[in-house]
Amino acid sequence: MGRSSKDKRDIYYRLAKEEGWRARSAFKLLHLDEEFNLFKGNIFILQVVEVFTCVNRAVDLCAAPGSWSQVLSRKLRGKDKIEEVKIVAVDLQAMAPLPGVTQIQGDITKISTAQEIIRHFEGQPADLVVCDGAPDVTGLHDVDEYIQAQLLLAALNITTHVLKPGGNFVAKIFRGKDVTLLYSQLKIFFTSVTCAKPRSSRNSSIEAFVVCQNYTPPEGYIPNMSNPLLDHSYDVDFNQLEGPNRIIVPFLACGDLSAFDSDRTYPLQLDSSKEYQYLPPTQPPIRPPYQQACELRKNNLLAKEDSPSGSLDHALTTLHL
Ligand code: SAM
Repeated sequence: MGRSSKDKRDIYYRLAKEEGWRARSAFKLLHLDEEFNLFKGNIFILQVVEVFTCVNRAVDLCAAPGSWSQVLSRKLRGKDKIEEVKIVAVDLQAMAPLPGVTQIQGDITKISTAQEIIRHFEGQPADLVVCDGAPDVTGLHDVDEYIQAQLLLAALNITTHVLKPGGNFVAKIFRGKDVTLLYSQLKIFFTSVTCAKPRSSRNSSIEAFVVCQNYTPPEGYIPNMSNPLLDHSYDVDFNQLEGPNRIIVPFLACGDLSAFDSDRTYPLQLDSSKEYQYLPPTQPPIRPPYQQACELRKNNLLAKEDSPSGSLDHALTTLHL
């Protein structure tokens, strides 16, 4: 397969390289922002004028290789706000540095990670938390959905430690059969929960994003790292709501309809005035977990030892050739 074939099959992969994003996922956050104005904070009306609160402290959970952090860095740090804006990126993996982004190489299921974020913000709460966390998918849908849900809940837990009341939280979600349970849990903490599908996220994927606005924890809620899915002591037990009482979260397709369709294959020559040129990825991952396997394969050390019955000679002899 030629190196340009992925550019043809995946328009957002190609555009990411052309625009200098580390991953195609950058467009998902950009499309979500087009719909929800995430980087402007919350809107309120002051004497008939619409006013947006500022987003000065943002957290990017599960950030590597860093395209969402790039979006935050480019969008939040205007010329006059370089000093004011603080962005923290957390991931199990190391990632290459980015301007204005502090990295924590850590696990979002750990309380120590929440404490480190708070230390970095000098005790001030965050205005926005985003999480594009995904486990290594196994292909077993039920298992993948379960692990993804656990990751989302870990992100929610960290969020309850660091987000200011009124702040916003955005996270990847898999729309599996038990997704309404997650919506119900999120509704305990946020007045508005929407499930959004950006145009850059393939229709063929069960991935979507929950956009949770206006953080309003239940009165007396003490943030902890336990799994809120298992905790029924807050407010109504939403899990029991059925029929007309069940929670229905709005579903919103977002991103301009004229934007590229992530499921389509496009010709390499997109624009007759500009010749296609292959570009390498903006920033390959540093020290990825598969690096060792790649090195072993390069040196032909991953191949299984030839057993006599598996060897070519043996096969040829067996076939009398
Ligand atoms: N938003 C990123 C971007 O735009 O470049 C892509 C994120 S990638 C889809 C998912 C990331 O989740 C991986 O880098 C993985 O290491 C991270 N991750 C998975 N489980 C995690 C955990 N428990 N703590 C921290 N990061 C985790």
